[in-house]
Amino acid sequence: MKIFCIGRNYIDHAKELNNKVPKKPLVFMKPPTALTYNKMVPYPTFSKSVHYELELVLHISKGGKDIKLSKANKHIGAIAIGIDFTARDIQADCKAKGHPWEIAKGFDNAATLSPLYAASEFDLASTKFSLSLNGKLVQSGDTKDMIFKTDYLVHYLSQYFTLEPGDLIYTGTPAGVGPIKKGDKLEGRLEDRLILENVIA
Ligand code: ZN
Repeated sequence: MKIFCIGRNYIDHAKELNNKVPKKPLVFMKPPTALTYNKMVPYPTFSKSVHYELELVLHISKGGKDIKLSKANKHIGAIAIGIDFTARDIQADCKAKGHPWEIAKGFDNAATLSPLYAASEFDLASTKFSLSLNGKLVQSGDTKDMIFKTDYLVHYLSQYFTLEPGDLIYTGTPAGVGPIKKGDKLEGRLEDRLILENVIA
């Protein structure tokens, strides 16, 4: 099982971190050990600035290589939401040195995930999701604002990587990312369903 993540896929988020809007998807990966369905998420010992990034997550149900754009959404069997936890201080250091940023993104419990919902229940061209932190709305996204849409991401990734059933694609975060601290409660909604709850321990 592979976990793909897309960076800077929403213009407003790219701008908030002073990044250029990419011409091609920015792809990185997290190892399977980063994934957790647990509510409690331990604050990592090695960072002083961990940020939440709520993202819509695609679950690949049908694998493939060189998947045509026109057929790509058929490979997405389910969707979910998840948080791409990011050690922003370590990431900034990696970026400044031109180094890979895996240690800032791929650590244990850095990818939380809600239960999966059948993709057929949603219009992938416009699906809304949102995050609240301690009861206050901090992020709201809509897949219609993605720079690279769900079908393009599947098509694009499959040119480089054979996609397999069970692979996950974190599709990028909208604006509103920010730091967490111990005791924070994060609640994620897909449309208006509360399906993800994480507490920082
Ligand atoms: Zn992200």
